[in-house]
Amino acid sequence: MQVSADDTSRAGEPEACDLLLLGGTILTLDEADTTLADGAVAVRDRRIAAIGPRAALAARFRAARTLDCGGRLLMPGLVNSHNHTPLMITRGMIEDLGFAPMFTAGIPQGHRLTEGEAEALARLGVYEMLRHGCTTIVDFYRYPQALARAHAELGSRAIVAGRVHDADPEALTQRRYVYDPTLAREAIQENADLIAAWDGHDQGRIRCDWAPHAPDTCSDACLAEVAGLAAGHGGNIHTHLCQSPVEVEQVRARSGLTPPQAMEAAGLLTPALLAAHCIHIEAEDVARLGRAGAAMAYTPLGNAKTGRIAPALDLAEAGVEITLCTDTFSGDLFEAMRWGVAMQRIRRGAPVLDARTALAWATGNGARRLGLGAEVGALTVGRRADILVMNTDAPSMAPLIDGHGLLVYGATGMDVGTVIVDGRVVIEDGVLATADGPAIVREAQKVSEGLWARSGRRPITLGEA
Ligand SMILES: [Zn+2]
Repeated sequence: MQVSADDTSRAGEPEACDLLLLGGTILTLDEADTTLADGAVAVRDRRIAAIGPRAALAARFRAARTLDCGGRLLMPGLVNSHNHTPLMITRGMIEDLGFAPMFTAGIPQGHRLTEGEAEALARLGVYEMLRHGCTTIVDFYRYPQALARAHAELGSRAIVAGRVHDADPEALTQRRYVYDPTLAREAIQENADLIAAWDGHDQGRIRCDWAPHAPDTCSDACLAEVAGLAAGHGGNIHTHLCQSPVEVEQVRARSGLTPPQAMEAAGLLTPALLAAHCIHIEAEDVARLGRAGAAMAYTPLGNAKTGRIAPALDLAEAGVEITLCTDTFSGDLFEAMRWGVAMQRIRRGAPVLDARTALAWATGNGARRLGLGAEVGALTVGRRADILVMNTDAPSMAPLIDGHGLLVYGATGMDVGTVIVDGRVVIEDGVLATADGPAIVREAQKVSEGLWARSGRRPITLGEA
């Protein structure tokens, strides 16, 4: 292992660094899958300055702050590749209603939220994901600047976008498609404003992309327009693809194409595409996505809750890179890792995949597909310091023998102790360090009570009317 990128200090005189994580077992998840017992990590200028034996780094560095990580397990921060944080409003309610919120009547819809309400819910979602060790988060929805503010404030690394579609959302809840060019125009302007205000914020910690919602909720003209804008901007294209039979039927009725064919016709099927779901997909289109070099945001828990299994392993075998996401309803990517493996085993009827593969979905694969492969996803010298310190006192964190298997099959997000993003401690021993965590939860509760009451469902906390 390379111990330092820069060893110019004179012998005997300690080098300054901002943060020193001293002690602990380090699971780097680097290319050689290096692990280090009783190690240390030095952080300077938001990046990893050195990784090596505890004694060597303790002697070499004089740190502004030292965290004792003795007995802990250190690993890279997780990459959660597809979310819509304001949709936290539907958690615990949508799961028994059977389908995606945008198509479900009687729930608070995105177009009925105010920007302030969206921001309060986004802060809840970002807080939860950080608390569970997600340090890089893809987040797209209405009011994307409210999302960007939440990520900027709480300290996550984020790829933010607006939600572009021209299908009328009220009609969608009645399973009707009414395309209104005004909606696309407004959403495209909203995303252009987002990019102007936020792209590259805080040394690139916040980045902005384009996100056409789905091939059924966007008309062909809308898809083609976003394809042109995204190609001009660079970055990724985030979308939902083959999420439901309704989508497949609508796209076929409109154009005679399958959803992946429609994306290809619009110029969106490129290596920049990060497509969530990919459940109702034909074998020919699995190969089409592979040929295009597209990537998948695998949503095992979301799929399972609606009784479906995406053919993630078929897609991987066809050359589609798999990244992992929670798609909002929980921030726990540890849970998603084991569900992701278990569901492919159920589908194949065989013990396919392993813990290392699931960890790669949740770290290096996501980083690489987001164009951050040299920056995050592993602990190596020179990368951004996005680091998790796991709480090895937790009963679910023993025995620590191999590490990989324990993290995938045993750990939960609540076993994350301390979270560092870009060299900054954002969660310390389970407590949000960048804002008042309990106040965020209280505010989200208040906002949700009002929104559900407006949608005709009185929350139990408000008692009888
Ligand atoms: Zn989604």
